[in-house]
Amino acid sequence: MLDVTDRRAAVANLVQARWGDLLAEIGRTVVERDDARLPPPPDLMAATGSTGLQAFPLPPEAGGEDADALTWGMILEQIGYHCADSALPVIINHQVDIARFVCESGRADLIETYAIPIAQGRCGAGIAYTENADAFSFRTVLRRKGDGYVLAGYKSYVTGGQISDVFLTYPLDEAGDMQACLVQSDDPGVTVRPAEPMGMRTAGAASVTFDDVPLPAGRVLEANDGLTHAQRFLSNQRLWIACAPLGRAQAVLDDCAARLAGTVRYGERVAELKNVEASLGRMFVAVETARVMLYHALSRVADGRAEPIFDPVVSAAKYFAVEQIRFVLERAFGVLGGYGFYGTPHLGRYMRDFAGLALVAGTQDILEVNLGAGVVARAGRPPSRAGFEEDYERMMGPRHSPHGADTSTPQMGVDLLNR
Ligand SMILES: Cc1cc2nc3c(=O)[nH]c(=O)nc-3n(C[C@H](O)[C@H](O)[C@H](O)COP(=O)(O)OP(=O)(O)OC[C@H]3O[C@@H](n4cnc5c(N)ncnc54)[C@H](O)[C@@H]3O)c2cc1C
Repeated sequence: MLDVTDRRAAVANLVQARWGDLLAEIGRTVVERDDARLPPPPDLMAATGSTGLQAFPLPPEAGGEDADALTWGMILEQIGYHCADSALPVIINHQVDIARFVCESGRADLIETYAIPIAQGRCGAGIAYTENADAFSFRTVLRRKGDGYVLAGYKSYVTGGQISDVFLTYPLDEAGDMQACLVQSDDPGVTVRPAEPMGMRTAGAASVTFDDVPLPAGRVLEANDGLTHAQRFLSNQRLWIACAPLGRAQAVLDDCAARLAGTVRYGERVAELKNVEASLGRMFVAVETARVMLYHALSRVADGRAEPIFDPVVSAAKYFAVEQIRFVLERAFGVLGGYGFYGTPHLGRYMRDFAGLALVAGTQDILEVNLGAGVVARAGRPPSRAGFEEDYERMMGPRHSPHGADTSTPQMGVDLLNR
């Protein structure tokens, strides 16, 4: 089984040393900014870039350090632990994945114009996908005009939209196929309006309207299969989105234990009441199991074993971790008494902020349906002979059949399930 204790400790030290002060400073103003619906200030967002945060998981062509998925997930977990602003890691992740996709295109002009400035914190970026419709009914369209295109439509919710200089957006073309293209907030015809979400109010979220925006042909990032492009983006986000909230759930658990150890009722410390100990124990189980599941999925991605569009383990990890994180917040609310409701501005804010985890990057409902459909599709399908041989040898070493004995694969799928 994967033991990453040392790696996790090294990442925790790295985050504390490189970004600890900056994360604390961003968190210090979060309550006022949450009330005023303001994102982190521009100088602090720029500082995340100049200190190498966005660059850390990006490839060298963007000036990045090429951290693998497990390391990046651990960094996000630590950001969540140290920074009280739940929106910061979501904004950063969207920026990072947009820069990553620009790098993947291999286009030197786009890497120079967008990926490197994003990595350095000189360019904000947001993903403009959602538009209150399913992917086959999008009304945002890209029409050919001369050598270029014209973009028209509306995207309803963009995390970091108010501080984005560029949007990665997904319109349908004249044939009804989805494309992926880059639009700048200063392109003529682009209007950004602040959104008013119930949570993540410090995310600087916005809607974006495209009124016949002229786009040069070079801004099309994926002309053939924008739907797969978007699904790959969402699949990455599915995993990142839960890592920082896991760190915050750990911080909430630590804070609960510290506060309740100093609270006395009827002559006893509340932390030592049996029902409270049991609650803290269940919260501990939730945090630890969510972490195991997320690390398992992150390792799968880091090793290149995850399906790029819908990976069942990645999806199960998001689903499970989100349920555990919300459970920790509910339990904290239970054990903290009135303090959780009126004594701290933070717990209620996290409950609002993390309610959205159930929707983002595949709603919990849709993940359940898709995971179940996968189970049904796999049922009864025997593993392939070649796959079985490879798996067997990975576990047991090379197979020997000196007497020509039959080593064929048992028909496990059908037989075991029919018992
Ligand atoms: C915190 C947060 C940040 C976000 N950031 C961004 C962003 O930066 N950019 C962006 O583009 N969007 C963003 N979103 C929007 C998000 O991607 C969508 O809200 C989400 O994908 C759900 O889509 P929808 O709102 O259209 O819900 P709907 O599709 O209308 O869902 C409504 C209900 O129908 C169910 N449902 C829908 N389709 C199916 C199906 N096929 N099978 C079973 N059930 C189904 C859902 O589970 C849900 O219960 C963000 C959302 C949140 C909460």
